[in-house]
Amino acid sequence: MVADRVTASEEETQAIARELSATLRAGDVVLLSGDLGAGKTTFVRGLADGLGIDPREVCSPTFTLVHEYRGNGLTLYHADLYRLERAATDELGLEEIGVKDGVLAIEWPDRLTHALPGATVVRLEMVDDSSRRITIGPAEAGS
Ligand code: ADP
Ligand code: MG
Repeated sequence: MVADRVTASEEETQAIARELSATLRAGDVVLLSGDLGAGKTTFVRGLADGLGIDPREVCSPTFTLVHEYRGNGLTLYHADLYRLERAATDELGLEEIGVKDGVLAIEWPDRLTHALPGATVVRLEMVDDSSRRITIGPAEAGS
């Protein structure tokens, strides 16, 4: 899915995430970049909802680096790499997660040392308090 839209609320951001979720297949990876408060976790709640998972289950992973949410379809894996040094991400085994039964959503993907080929990049930018610009597209080679 390719998109460049501005949302005016959390609900609108989740609606775009639900649209994206409908296009996802097992093994797909979604990279979420944007500053703190940009709406990355909010977007993951929309992905969860679209995958038949209660969005209220989705929280910001703190000590658990990768959360796993089982719905009635694809499993959603949610990683938040904010607190990690770049090198430490190698030990998480994210590549293996991505190819299994589910979809992997990663916040702060700039911490990754390896590119995840074929990933979809969602970039969230704060426009003002309630508006976010959301661009969605394929990861560029090397990013
Ligand atoms: P991140 O995971 O990027 O740090 P969160 O999703 O945890 O961000 O928080 C985003 C915050 O911004 C929430 O408090 C949410 O209510 C607020 N917000 C305001 N407008 C929007 C919008 N259009 N889309 C998403 N979140 C929004
Ligand atoms: Mg977050």
